[in-house]
Amino acid sequence: MSPAHTIADVSEEIDGDDALTHNVSAGAALADVVRTTLGPAGNDKMVVGDGEVLVTNDGSHIVDQLDVEAPAARIVADLARAQGGALGDGATSAIVLAGALLREAEPLIEDGLHPTTVVNGYAAASRRARDRAAELADPGDADDGDALRDVVATAVTGRWDAERTAFLADLIVRGYRSTLVDGGDGATRSERLTIQHAPGGATTDSELIDGLVVDTDRSSTSLSDVPTELPDRLSDPRIAIVDDEIALERDGSAARVSVETADQRRRLREFESAEYDRLLATLRELDVDVLLSQKSIDDRFRSLLARAGIVSVERTRQDEIHKIERATGAAPVMRIEDLTPETVGRADLLERRSLGGSTFVIVRDAASTQTSLLLRGSPEHVVEETERIVADGLRLLEGFGERPALLPGGGATEAAIAHDLRRWSPTIRTREQLAVDRFADALETIPATLARNAGADALETTLELRRRHDAGDRTAGFDATAGAVTDVLSAGIVEPLPLKTRIVSNATQAACSILRIDGIIRIAGSIGEAGPHDADDHGHGHGHNHGHGHATGGPERSTHGYPWAIGH
Ligand code: ADP
Ligand code: MG
Repeated sequence: MSPAHTIADVSEEIDGDDALTHNVSAGAALADVVRTTLGPAGNDKMVVGDGEVLVTNDGSHIVDQLDVEAPAARIVADLARAQGGALGDGATSAIVLAGALLREAEPLIEDGLHPTTVVNGYAAASRRARDRAAELADPGDADDGDALRDVVATAVTGRWDAERTAFLADLIVRGYRSTLVDGGDGATRSERLTIQHAPGGATTDSELIDGLVVDTDRSSTSLSDVPTELPDRLSDPRIAIVDDEIALERDGSAARVSVETADQRRRLREFESAEYDRLLATLRELDVDVLLSQKSIDDRFRSLLARAGIVSVERTRQDEIHKIERATGAAPVMRIEDLTPETVGRADLLERRSLGGSTFVIVRDAASTQTSLLLRGSPEHVVEETERIVADGLRLLEGFGERPALLPGGGATEAAIAHDLRRWSPTIRTREQLAVDRFADALETIPATLARNAGADALETTLELRRRHDAGDRTAGFDATAGAVTDVLSAGIVEPLPLKTRIVSNATQAACSILRIDGIIRIAGSIGEAGPHDADDHGHGHGHNHGHGHATGGPERSTHGYPWAIGH
């Protein structure tokens, strides 16, 4: 491959110490943006774009919206995306920790420590932190509803008041449980749960429904526009699904009749009527109230269905058909003639509701293996944020269900690891020892920030935590509700082990990749295929919709002045 840029393209170069200072401040600046949102007492940020406003408290959503320009800040932003995407939580913590690691590295390097020594020391500390976290973890019980609710509440806290936090934590836990496979050891089927949101009402009006909620305005499932409108409520409806188009066979006997004379046309109509009557009789015999087709339904037949009081729904998307199967027990057949009593499904109730400007069809059935979360709240940005948080909470519980191990939150684990690192570092006979000590200091910014955001004294909190952990109190952390250092484990402030391990290793990785950079070469034009951003070693989380992911190696942008711009 030919080099994307020649020497002539290089317009500016910053090296050595200057590059480091530049990068450290850019990375740390991003941490400063999200720092005040950490923890239950954290504030919200309002991100303002082109006439759009996003109010959020989640670090990954904030950086998702920022058009981060400084390359070093991008590394941190990517880390947050990876963190939030994979585990549904911990993005703010990861950014704050990465920022602290960068800040702590600076004086060491100024004092003459080689960046590689710092990187090695940090890497060693991170490995030890991971092992220590595993030792500190309590085996959690994924069947214990209280433990699950505590995990979610700790993760989503700060977004709402205590009452709404408890309400949503319970809703998320019930939603999660509905996806569990029987005897599957924590395995889930996420497709069993449908999440819909409708602006309006209060957050506490949200409900978990046994059955299916279809937003007919936003989904492809269209109720036929012909005379039958679904009544507002249909009790004990019987539902049939046909996979194919519902029309008469055109290449069968009917089509061979050449329709030229009025008489022939009449005979064709008669033939069609007889056929349709036969199909209607089948449906009536099976007591079908709702007929769904994956393809189209012939116009004339649709009006006949309407007159017979049968609701018809055409062009239903495949995935929606599957959900309807799970909600009603209906089994799709190729043709109406193939329907049998066994293939016709049922539900307790079919409801049509207008909510937040959309029409929802709600299929309720107590025996359904399909469940739906119908989220409410106003204004719209609140219910949208609720939906993101619910999705994050579900992902977090999935991870916890697969590996139930719990750590104390509120900075207790960070304080315990810091304590351990400080006892360990003197045994390291190299200069890396200094970096390990700094790593411990960086970890302590988590409880310090939680305290500061809650209006408590950060320094006092840090010192008190050191005293308590020196005395062997491994669950001492900052409880934001109490505004003091307490036993956070018994206060139900808990985090899953893999979450904490990921936060620490992601933050270390990001800080180390920034510290390893010893020069910035600014080029004119864009970076080619081999640009550093393509070698993405952070592994973007799957299933996370970035929405605003920036193109790798975009046009050259100045990194002078403000380290980022707010786009979108
Ligand atoms: P993140 O994006 O990192 O998840 P959050 O704003 O959700 O950021 O804050 C998470 C931090 O808040 C964790 O360290 C967690 O232990 C802590 N936390 C949650 N609830 C409490 C609480 N009641 N008191 C103190 N800290 C808490
Ligand atoms: Mg969180």
